[in-house]
Amino acid sequence: MKLILPCMTCFQELGKPTFEFATLEFRDDGRYEVCCSRGHKSVTILQQQKFEVLFDIGANAIIDGYYREAISSFTSSMERFYEFCIKVFCVKRKLETDVFVKTWKEVSNQSERQLGAYLFLWASEFGEAPELLSSKDAGFRNSVIHKGRIPTRDEALEYGNTILNIIRPKIEQLKLSCSEEISTVTFEHIRSCSRLTDGQVSGGTMCANTIVSLTSGEESHNKQSLEEALSNVSKYREMVSNTQSITI
Ligand SMILES: [Zn+2]
Repeated sequence: MKLILPCMTCFQELGKPTFEFATLEFRDDGRYEVCCSRGHKSVTILQQQKFEVLFDIGANAIIDGYYREAISSFTSSMERFYEFCIKVFCVKRKLETDVFVKTWKEVSNQSERQLGAYLFLWASEFGEAPELLSSKDAGFRNSVIHKGRIPTRDEALEYGNTILNIIRPKIEQLKLSCSEEISTVTFEHIRSCSRLTDGQVSGGTMCANTIVSLTSGEESHNKQSLEEALSNVSKYREMVSNTQSITI
């Protein structure tokens, strides 16, 4: 799973694209460093949140035939979505950043604690308990992740669609009542990734068209099934592999 990036400094200086691209692996820190053939060193920040990237990693794992890994990434995507929601709700409650950081430390290593925080913050925001994985789906997930079960492609697709159907309506609900807070958390994410070292210039931010998406307003994108999304991901991968001949 790769990203392709042009040099933004060349683009600004020349006023047109150079058709020179860097092909980059996805990173945990959201920072993408590129050095082009004209010597520009730039850092571009991926705007997407971890949960958005992780879901795409799961989709790519299905295409590659790694169904256990797909289920693991889909599960992580949902857990990081909980974390994102917790941040948004805490911003809405005007919690000081240092208090958030200190409190998060107490839950950061235990997903059950994070789930508890998410459940009660969601319930207090919307007056209802959020939908979670059914006990059957949670049992399936545990058998794959903890007991070494080897799932089929169909099981991975079904599990991925289940996660999509849980996260997507929640993104819409969150956008309706917390849009300002979503922007604050997104801005803070970009700011925390943006430090530059000597000789580096900012390449700005970029947006990836992920399957689970906070930024896509297109109904057709947000309604596509995992199977439809996989076909688009396959086309993107083909485009990236055709681009590699002119990789920096
Ligand atoms: Zn350049």
